[in-house]
Amino acid sequence: MLPVNRLEPLIVPRPEHPISRANISPNALKVLNRLKQAGFEAYLVGGGVRDLLLGHEPKDFDIATNATPEEVREVFRNCRLIGRRFRLAHVFFGREIVEVATFRGSNAEAGSDAQVTEQGMILRDNVYGSITEDALRRDFTVNALYYNIADFSLVDYAGGLADIEQGCLRLIGDDPVARYREDPVRMLRAVRFACKLGFIIDPDCAAPIRELAGLLGEISPARLFEETLKLFHSGYALHAFEKLRHFDLFAQLFPETDACLAREEQAFPITFVSRGLDNTDRRILEGKPVAPAFLFAVLLWEPVRLRYQTLLAEGLPSADAMALASHEIASAQQRRVAIQKRFALPMREIWALQPRLERRQGKRPLMLLSHPRFRAAYDFLLLRAEAGETDPELAQWWTRFQEVDAAERGKMLGSTPERKRKRRRRKPKSAPPAAGSAGPAEAAAAAGDPSARRPSGPQQGSGTTND
Ligand code: ATP
Ligand code: MG
Repeated sequence: MLPVNRLEPLIVPRPEHPISRANISPNALKVLNRLKQAGFEAYLVGGGVRDLLLGHEPKDFDIATNATPEEVREVFRNCRLIGRRFRLAHVFFGREIVEVATFRGSNAEAGSDAQVTEQGMILRDNVYGSITEDALRRDFTVNALYYNIADFSLVDYAGGLADIEQGCLRLIGDDPVARYREDPVRMLRAVRFACKLGFIIDPDCAAPIRELAGLLGEISPARLFEETLKLFHSGYALHAFEKLRHFDLFAQLFPETDACLAREEQAFPITFVSRGLDNTDRRILEGKPVAPAFLFAVLLWEPVRLRYQTLLAEGLPSADAMALASHEIASAQQRRVAIQKRFALPMREIWALQPRLERRQGKRPLMLLSHPRFRAAYDFLLLRAEAGETDPELAQWWTRFQEVDAAERGKMLGSTPERKRKRRRRKPKSAPPAAGSAGPAEAAAAAGDPSARRPSGPQQGSGTTND
């Protein structure tokens, strides 16, 4: 890399670029203007500038300044300082948060208090610096464009404008391997931005990814969870899945699933995941909510299913086999991608309900209808049927069972194939319920009010983003 101080930026004056204040959030503008009035430099930077140049609606607006976080706090009453890894100021406007970061310096500088591992990974880089240094420590050229509130010009230190024109995602600097080593998550970000923006990854930046994919093992499972959600809940999940597999990155995030997909002879495991992700993308496109529990249930189903089959063959009852398979696979997964408990529990319920959906005799189907996770489990069953993994007749039966009236339901219950089979003996009462089994209160409510929720295509569960 060139010595940073000698780099001359390309400055594009206001009349020669399309970014207008009308497209910037009023609150971000307020922050920029107040910093300027207080005598500081202030720029809009990162995804906000990139997306405005591409004609997309930015997700959020980040601001970079030469004011220290403490100085930012003095300017804004509605401000909190956050972050250990990077110290940032958050300025609050009701529900909107505008993030203000102080220009960060180069880690290589003598006397800096940045910490780097033997592999070159940055542990802490809370060193303040100039705007030039700040630009060059960002990840991709297209993410290092600055909109200057002082004169409304665009400032480009890294060639981001040319790369936006060409649709090219390029790491800043001339050593992509070093940039991935500094922060291996940049490999996932490369895939994410390539999908989101429809850009190609510059060949020099794409080339080392496969070899370096294993570095993701050094990243905390909590951070990988955040990145995984961004990859799969932004409207391009199917594309991201294919690209992640192409770069051997998927195996780093979902090793058990990847091993199944790699060795399966049948097509349905891939079909199942692809359809699940496609379904998620379509819901996002239509503005419908999506549920992390459903997403992870889809992504981990194949290893759960295989383990479940093995345990069944070993003679375990189906509920126990599913509970154990879920527990094993979910626990192994936590070591890579930490699925928060509030998502892991409903995910396991979706799996636990799969064998229960196969039982169609007596009061059980009516009770299942009012299970809080019924809707998600039914959608999951539809996907399994569509992928050819389970009998479509079962899915059709459940679709119809929700649509018809009570009299018709009675008839359906009387004519299921299971009806003719011998009844299994009840388990002793002391046996602990498997995950997802109905508790007594729920069963009573279900018996009293078997109200149907009408199906209207795959819903991914109860319709909240937090499920
Ligand atoms: P979006 O918010 O649309 O996902 P973004 O580019 O704004 O995209 P953020 O994760 O919000 O991405 O990060 C904001 C900016 O911070 C980026 O544009 C980039 O300049 C810088 N940045 C973020 N993560 C890294 C990283 N791992 N390495 C270097 N720079 C980063
Ligand atoms: Mg952003």
